[in-house]
Amino acid sequence: MLEVAEALAAVLEHARPRRPEAVALSPVVLGRVLAMHATADRDSPPFDKSLRDGYAVRSADCAGGAAELRVVEEVPAGAVPAKAVGPGECARLFTGAPIPDGADAVVMQEDTQLVGDRVRVTDTAVKPGQWVFPRGREMRAGDVVLPTGTALNAAAVGVLAGLGAAEVPVVPWPRVAVLSTGNELVNLADEPGPGQIRNSNGPMLVSLAVRAGAVVHDLGIARDTAGELRGRIEEGLDRTDVLMLAGGVSVGKFDLVPGVLEELGVTPHVRQVRMKPGKPLFFGTRGDALVFGLPGNPVSAFVCFELFVRPALRVLAGHGEPGPRTATLPLAEPVAESNDRPTYRPARLEPAAVGWAVRPLPWAGAPDLRGLQPADALLVLPAGESRFDPGTPVPVVLLN
Ligand code: AMP
Ligand code: MG
Repeated sequence: MLEVAEALAAVLEHARPRRPEAVALSPVVLGRVLAMHATADRDSPPFDKSLRDGYAVRSADCAGGAAELRVVEEVPAGAVPAKAVGPGECARLFTGAPIPDGADAVVMQEDTQLVGDRVRVTDTAVKPGQWVFPRGREMRAGDVVLPTGTALNAAAVGVLAGLGAAEVPVVPWPRVAVLSTGNELVNLADEPGPGQIRNSNGPMLVSLAVRAGAVVHDLGIARDTAGELRGRIEEGLDRTDVLMLAGGVSVGKFDLVPGVLEELGVTPHVRQVRMKPGKPLFFGTRGDALVFGLPGNPVSAFVCFELFVRPALRVLAGHGEPGPRTATLPLAEPVAESNDRPTYRPARLEPAAVGWAVRPLPWAGAPDLRGLQPADALLVLPAGESRFDPGTPVPVVLLN
C-alpha cells in the first residue's frame, strides 16, 4: 500500500503534456497553457504618447508659471504630428496621441486657459515627461512578454491581441472518458428497483473533469461482468488520454475492474493508497493513456479525483504546477477523532479575525456525498488520535 505522496508521484511520473496545437486567438484559449514564448514584434507604446487630453509643451517654457503659448496644430489619437513644437509653442493633444518633436511634457487641459488664440498654462510645476507614456515603457520589441507555460486569462488574451498573435500555440485540453461500474446502478431517468441506487459518480466525475477543462466522453454504466467491462474500457481507451472508472476496484467478488484492465494490457502502478476515504485506488497506463480506477463510494471517488486525477489533468494540459493546492490554516473548532489512515475530511474555509480558518463539516463518511457538497477544502488529519484545539494550524487541500 502506497502513501498518498508516493501514489501521486507514480501518477505524475506517467503524465505528459499533450502535443501543442495552434488555435485562433479567441475565448477558447482561456485557461489553456501557452506552448511557446510570446514575444513583442514592436515597442509598446510604439511612440511617446499622451496620457491626457491637453497640450504638448516644452517644460522649460512653463517654468515659473503663467506661460502663454501659441498652438501650432491639433493632434487626435490615431494622427501623427506634422509640426515640431518650438520655444513659446504648444500642440493641442488628446489621450493616446503621439508627442510632437520638441515637446517633452503634457499639460492637462484642466490646467490651462484660453486667452485669445493663446493657451495660458496655470500648472506652475510642469515636469519633463509629465503625462507622457514613453515609447517601450510597457514592452520592447523582442521582449518575451508571456513565457511558455503561461496559463491564459483574459488579460493574456488582451496582451496576445496587442502582439498581433492571430493564432496561438497552446496545449490542448485532455480528453477524458468516464465509466461508472456496478450491477446496482441505474440512470437517473430510471426508477431504482429493490437493491438499486442511482448513478451519482458518473455525472459528478464528468462535471469535475469538465470544470478541470477536459473534453469529456461519458461511457455510462457498465454491469459487473468482465464482458461488459471489456467492451466499455476498450471504447474509453481508444479515444482518450485519461479513462476514469468508478467502482469495482476493491477486493469483493464483483470487483472485476483491475483484473479486466490488466487483461487489456493496462500496466498497474498503484493499487491501494493509505488514505481515508479511498483506500482502493487503481492507477495504470496503456501506452500514453492514464487509467484511474476510483473507489465506488462517491466521496472516495471525489477525494481521489482531487488528489490524483486533477493533478494529472493539469500536467496533460501543460501546467507546470500539478497541485493539489494546499495550505495550512487554523482550525475554527476543536477536532477529536481517531483514524486508522490519514484522513481527508470535508471542510469549509471561513474568514477569521486574521486571515482564514477551516471548519470541518458534519459528515457521515465515504458514502455521504451530501455532507461533502458544501466543502471548499479537505482537512487533512493524520493517522491515529487527532485531538486539536481551535486555532491549531492544520493542513488543508483547497478545492475549486
Ligand atoms: P464498489 O467500489 O463498487 O465496491 O462500491 C462501493 C460503494 O459505492 C457501494 O456501496 C456502491 O453501491 C457505491 N457506488 C458505486 N458506484 C456508485 C455510483 N456510481 N454512484 C453512487 N454510488 C456508487
Ligand atoms: Mg461495485
